[in-house]
Amino acid sequence: MARTKGYPEALEKKLRDQRYVREDSNPEFLKNVKSISRTIAHMCYQCGTCTGSCPSAPRSSYRIRHFMRRAVLGLENEALTDPDLWLCTTCYSCSDRCPRDIIPTDVIMAMRNLAFKRDIVPVNFLKTVQAIYSSGHGVPNNDVNRAAREKLGLTRDPPTTHMYPEYMPGIRKILDHYKLKANADRIVKEREG
Ligand code: SF4
Ligand code: SF4
Repeated sequence: MARTKGYPEALEKKLRDQRYVREDSNPEFLKNVKSISRTIAHMCYQCGTCTGSCPSAPRSSYRIRHFMRRAVLGLENEALTDPDLWLCTTCYSCSDRCPRDIIPTDVIMAMRNLAFKRDIVPVNFLKTVQAIYSSGHGVPNNDVNRAAREKLGLTRDPPTTHMYPEYMPGIRKILDHYKLKANADRIVKEREG
């Protein structure tokens, strides 16, 4: 038994049907990506300039051109469940160079938005939401930095929500409006208990 542990799953994965059929496509996906990204994703003719510009591509299996194709073909499940979706650094090199004036970076951002709505999101993003909700900062001040600021003749806290916490309710109201904090808390709890 132990000798074949995991084998059927591995075999199934290897033999998975990799052909695309019409049923794999959700035409709403391209529409949604376009309306969120506000870029002409359907005009991609797969020249590959974007992937050739991408700093993530040489170091991983992430291919922005592949994601553009998935957008055009409506391959929603395949795109949104791919962990590579989170390897874009949003450097905008692809967007600077696309001969069709598409902004592939914003296509990725749109896909990340749609993935988040399905609870597909790296936990670091959620922890940033929690930090902003509690302090107004994605990277809050701490005692080491406070001591360093004092040494430099600065106030211990910068003139932000750290110094003026009375602005925090406004920030929380925005996050609550989009249910960001509630969703972040729920997903973190599901993942980390
Ligand atoms: S550079 Fe533009 S047209 Fe070329 S593959 Fe990338 S998105 Fe498509
Ligand atoms: S914005 Fe993202 S996809 Fe485009 S080149 Fe930079 S890392 Fe690659």
